[in-house]
Amino acid sequence: MQWDEFSEWGRKIAEWASDYHQNIRALPVRAQTAPGAIRAQLPSSPPENSEDMTTIMSDFERIVMPGMTHWQHPRFFAYFPANAAPPSMLAEMLVSTIAAQCMLWQTSPAATEMEQVMVAWLRQALGIADGYTGVIQDSASSATLSAVLTMRERATGFTGNAQGLSEQGKIRIYCSDQVHSSIDRACWVAGIGQANLVKISTQGPLHSLDGDALRRAISDDRLAGYHPAGIIAVTGGTSIGACDDLSLITDIAKDENLYTHLDAAWAGAAMICPELRSGLWEGVSNFDSIVFNPHKWLGAQFDCSVQFLKDAQAQLATLKIEPEYLTTSQEDITNFSEWTIPLGRRFRALKLWFLIRSYGLEGLRHRLRNHVLWAQKLCERLRQTPGFFITSEPVLSLFSFRCAGDDRAQQRLVDAINDDGRIYLTQGVWQGQKVIRFQVGQFDTTYEDVMLAHAVIEEVQAGMA
Ligand code: PLP
Repeated sequence: MQWDEFSEWGRKIAEWASDYHQNIRALPVRAQTAPGAIRAQLPSSPPENSEDMTTIMSDFERIVMPGMTHWQHPRFFAYFPANAAPPSMLAEMLVSTIAAQCMLWQTSPAATEMEQVMVAWLRQALGIADGYTGVIQDSASSATLSAVLTMRERATGFTGNAQGLSEQGKIRIYCSDQVHSSIDRACWVAGIGQANLVKISTQGPLHSLDGDALRRAISDDRLAGYHPAGIIAVTGGTSIGACDDLSLITDIAKDENLYTHLDAAWAGAAMICPELRSGLWEGVSNFDSIVFNPHKWLGAQFDCSVQFLKDAQAQLATLKIEPEYLTTSQEDITNFSEWTIPLGRRFRALKLWFLIRSYGLEGLRHRLRNHVLWAQKLCERLRQTPGFFITSEPVLSLFSFRCAGDDRAQQRLVDAINDDGRIYLTQGVWQGQKVIRFQVGQFDTTYEDVMLAHAVIEEVQAGMA
């Protein structure tokens, strides 16, 4: 492709993007294709000769688009959001254009220094104490894996990387039974093993880890010869939004000399609103490691996960590796690839800079506050609707409900709603039962979109009776 053709197609695609977003409400939220339908339309072998962009783009619209689920649809109420606010998309276009590999300071000083400043901006916005530094990772899963590896190394006197896991089967990590599966997977991959991830029951209105049970588990494990290494807390669990008592957890960790990691992947964004922190965030600045995903609710295009570190040295001692080909001669610089598992790094901080400047924290807060309010209003309407039962109260903008009937009836309703296409919902589990989750968080959603969800849920349920 020549550059003049590139600029013509760049303009066409920007226009396509704007039309897509402006007309997105007319599309079914979840893709309505059958398994294999898209693959069947793709040639099984690559072309030998070049094809022109007009044909490629028309095939994209014809073949690919029907197979897309529209995460930027204002009536996306499934999972958690993956917002891509327009300024962050524009920043990503620039990042793709420059396509720098930002592994070391010298491979793009602006990327490293921008990353340091964006971490500092977000630290302040979230009310986390001075002194934390941090790094932008691709996902909360990667940040949690980094923290779990750090727990392992710290517990083994930083010998695990060098000597292998002689302590394998002995290291223990603690969390509640409400954590995301990325915590389980981090423990698998770190060689700790599922059996050594001790899940403690929860209690209270926020379904918080039971501190007495945690203390007992740690003490029993020490007596049995295990090696407690760390505690992972959650603010805003995936199924029903469980939130741990952060001060309680860090008090126990301090008494037991354990490393702490907090997963606030989803709920962290809401902590830019000081009034939403109450009861959820006290004690956050005692954690060794904290992760939150601006790519979920805050509006930064995927991928963008910030890990704050109270003292980065433990993670650096775990992950830093410096072969000759990666050494640099500058002093007083940060090479962020030493803080993470992958070497290669995208310039993720730019979209945060565009996003935060473009909306201001107040503009972002306004959106999040509305989402929380509208989720509460919908919850109240469903509570008043015969045949529906609220199973978990709103935590920020997430609540869950059930219709009459058993677990299969819940799944049938979820599937029928998603086949209808006007809204998109997913299920979770709470107290051993399937529940239907509802979260409000898409960047362009309106009060009317949220209330339309009520009409759709009621109508689809009535149609199934
Ligand atoms: N933690 C929580 C609470 C989540 O809800 C999720 C994903 O939804 C994750 C972690 C994993 O996030 P990521 O996809 O960034 O790894």
